[in-house]
Amino acid sequence: MNKQVYVNGKYFDKNDAVVSVFDRGFLFADAVYEVTAVINGFLVDWKAHFSRLKNSLKEINLNFNIQEKEIFSIQKNLIEKNKIKEGLVYIQVTRGVGERDFNFSETQFKPTIVIFTQEKKILNTDRAKEGIKIVTLEEKRWKRRDIKTTQLLASSMGKSEASKIGKDDCWFIENGFITEGSSSNAFIINDNNEVITRELSHNLLGGITRSSLLHFCKKNNMKFRESKFTELEAKNANEAFITSATNFVVPVIEIDGDKVGKGVVGSHVKKFQKLYLNEIQKRLS
Ligand code: PMP
Repeated sequence: MNKQVYVNGKYFDKNDAVVSVFDRGFLFADAVYEVTAVINGFLVDWKAHFSRLKNSLKEINLNFNIQEKEIFSIQKNLIEKNKIKEGLVYIQVTRGVGERDFNFSETQFKPTIVIFTQEKKILNTDRAKEGIKIVTLEEKRWKRRDIKTTQLLASSMGKSEASKIGKDDCWFIENGFITEGSSSNAFIINDNNEVITRELSHNLLGGITRSSLLHFCKKNNMKFRESKFTELEAKNANEAFITSATNFVVPVIEIDGDKVGKGVVGSHVKKFQKLYLNEIQKRLS
């Protein structure tokens, strides 16, 4: 059986799931989204993802009273229908369909909701075990990166550029400081075994994985600091890693061709990977 996709109240075979060519999500990237990990058929940190979705909707002035219980049950339904044991659930919400017009303020739209699943290995991946190599690239995204919109072209181009030169991903740099990864938050660990990740602002997405990891650090009396760091600090770090719902905690072993620390996965990152996996067991729904 083909996978099912939810579109505006109905479930479709994935080949039959469609939205209008006049959907503002397609015409203007006038849309927000969330991606939540699925482990053993359970959603990870679901409430936090839903709360960020509501915030993204609010920030783009998309007045939509999205219902928590309803969305949760659709996502659980899809996980079951599509037999997802390990993978991801995406929800995309657009402003809706209308005449092509930059000005949306004078029209009452009916939002489009699409929910789909993706089977994906998240635990024990080669990336998690061996680490990834990244390159730094100039930040080219818009200035409200705290909103999780579907306008992902700059990130997509960045990741493709990294791939073309044989690297796994990129970190963006703005005014000499790392903002974040193409689809992840960036962390370094310094000589004092202090974990550093950039403080929250409009410049980066407040990752749910980032926030959970910092919470677990606090709970376990581990040292961390939320402050911006330079490319040089990153290169001189003992260890580095990224966090995201699609990867959890993945070590970074090389930046712009320079080894991070010894150029192998360090003991602290391994500790964070373990800590994260242990702690999220209590956050499955
Ligand atoms: N930053 C960006 C730009 C992202 O796309 C993502 C992935 N959603 C993250 C950070 C990490 O966020 P989360 O931990 O919520 O997946």
